[in-house]
Amino acid sequence: MAVSSSTPHPSLSDVISAFEEVYPPHWAASWDAVGLVAGDPAQDVAKVLFAVDPVDAVVDEALTWGADLIITHHPLMLRGVTSVAADTPKGRVVHRLIRSGTALYTAHTNADTASPGVSDALARAVGVTGPLRPLDPDTTDPEGHRGIGRIGALDRPVVLRDFAAQVARALPATAAGVRVAGDLDRVVGTVAVSGGAGDSLLGAARAAGVDVFVTSDLRHHPASEFVENPGGPALIDTAHFASEWPWLADGAARLVDALGRAGQPGGTNVETRVSTTVTDAWSQALPHV
Ligand SMILES: [Zn+2]
Repeated sequence: MAVSSSTPHPSLSDVISAFEEVYPPHWAASWDAVGLVAGDPAQDVAKVLFAVDPVDAVVDEALTWGADLIITHHPLMLRGVTSVAADTPKGRVVHRLIRSGTALYTAHTNADTASPGVSDALARAVGVTGPLRPLDPDTTDPEGHRGIGRIGALDRPVVLRDFAAQVARALPATAAGVRVAGDLDRVVGTVAVSGGAGDSLLGAARAAGVDVFVTSDLRHHPASEFVENPGGPALIDTAHFASEWPWLADGAARLVDALGRAGQPGGTNVETRVSTTVTDAWSQALPHV
């Protein structure tokens, strides 16, 4: 969407109000830190960059484009700090943001649990069609739509080898790629997904009786014990960044939609962009030769 300079832009406060209608902060887990991290609520917002991680490379991208606001999935600071001096990586990010007048806002577990949320976007990206339901429902939602992870089905069952290739094609390329645990020739039709670290949902995926569970950051022992135990789902493990990246476009579209609905002066005069910076921690994986 092009931005016209002749019409006003919404304030950061208006943008946040619209975004929080879609992803209310009180949906976040109690341990989480979501909301505005840096920025003046009174400043104008014309350009919003969506990214997974609030790291230096993303700030570079934001400054090059001239973003007024960065909305990230991951918090910059999750625990208490006593200093934001620029000689630490996070302090340097804070300094660069404030010096450039770029705001930073985080929607983390509130975007995970939302419906649609982070795992809906992952499920759709990897080819799950039809209805989705939470893998770990939020018990405070009487309608049962919200929660962590999603369960759904493929249009038609395929062998695990082909589904894994489909997952790899659907997600941004990372050095670490996609790992698979299980019989590559087994047929998979029902799928559970959970964007980000999904160790804690292995039991829920098994209990759900799905054929395959797509998530990230699985460690050796839980993954090994899981696939040694017969009858359970196969596992597909992607880069953490990659599994959450599909949500960014969804979050951007829902922000623009919410700004339009809110009828703010200049509310729709906001340009959004999805970060193309790969922020996965791993920069190289070497196959054995
Ligand atoms: Zn994450």
